[in-house]
Amino acid sequence: MRATLMYGPHDVQVKTVPDAQIVAPTDALVHVTHACICGSDLWPYNQMEHSDAGRRMGHEFIGVVEAAGADVRTVKPGDLVVAPFAFSDGTCIFCRQGLQTACLHGGFFGTGAEGMDGGQSEAVRVPQADGTLYVLPTGPDDGLMPSLLTLSDVMGTGHHAARAARVGPGKIAAVVGDGAVGLCGVIAAKRLGAEQIILLGRHPDRTALGKEFGATDIVSERGEAAVERVRELTGGLGAHAVLECVGHGEAMLTAINIARPGGAVGRVGVPQEEAIPGSGSAFYKNLTISGGPAPVRAYMEELLPDILDGRIQPGRVFDRVGSLDEVPDGYRAMNDREALKVMIEF
Ligand SMILES: [Zn+2]
Repeated sequence: MRATLMYGPHDVQVKTVPDAQIVAPTDALVHVTHACICGSDLWPYNQMEHSDAGRRMGHEFIGVVEAAGADVRTVKPGDLVVAPFAFSDGTCIFCRQGLQTACLHGGFFGTGAEGMDGGQSEAVRVPQADGTLYVLPTGPDDGLMPSLLTLSDVMGTGHHAARAARVGPGKIAAVVGDGAVGLCGVIAAKRLGAEQIILLGRHPDRTALGKEFGATDIVSERGEAAVERVRELTGGLGAHAVLECVGHGEAMLTAINIARPGGAVGRVGVPQEEAIPGSGSAFYKNLTISGGPAPVRAYMEELLPDILDGRIQPGRVFDRVGSLDEVPDGYRAMNDREALKVMIEF
């Protein structure tokens, strides 16, 4: 089969690899119909150390179950399924509390782990199929496919940021970052009842989409100027709920500095530094800092009806569609900020 491999910075290639297959009785084999490139794939795209073997890429996909292992009960061949970016058994202590990204028998797709397939390939061996895969009530040609694909990561991750930031009715939310996750964070904040939603981002086409998703104010300044602008927009007090959707230190510092005393920061950007900045500010403001890899599997049930009804349209974050062969150029286009998010159709 053909799959996407990354060999080093700016070196992504589509290669023929051994066919995905069932190894454990709890596995399912999924033939991918839709996948995409993630903003988090751009971190290794810029920083990865050269690898001769290459790293299998991709952690967001929808596909049709081709075969299921002997112990698999909840999915069967022919089912159309969406996979979260992390696999999980669905039964351990952490899965039962809705934290599937900490599953005792789980792991992540597309990290280059031994024996693991990536989502940007024709087929994927899905471990722990019962806990991992979610059966969709639609066909693969449904027009909602782009939005359903966001359940695998960005919509669930934006929702997680909003939950971690304790967005609720009447609250002022602020979203740091106008990438696909930040824009989904705007959708999530609106969905959870935020009264004012301030989006911090510098790309006019992206912030325009953010406004359509429900952002009430756009802040294009950065650093101290951004903090000052949010202060003006919030009666001098700051936001109750801040969604940090970037991952580097400057974004986190901004998030902490625009939160009001007693507020919360929900962080879902993959951290690029060891330390969280702004410790003193966070302390004296009694901030709650929460978040991490989103248990998107836990949120599929909750978010699906809103997608099916068209109440939310997170699939609008895809502004380019290509084939598997176009994946390397998709990375380039996203890295050059030419594309917001690229969907791959098979
Ligand atoms: Zn588990």
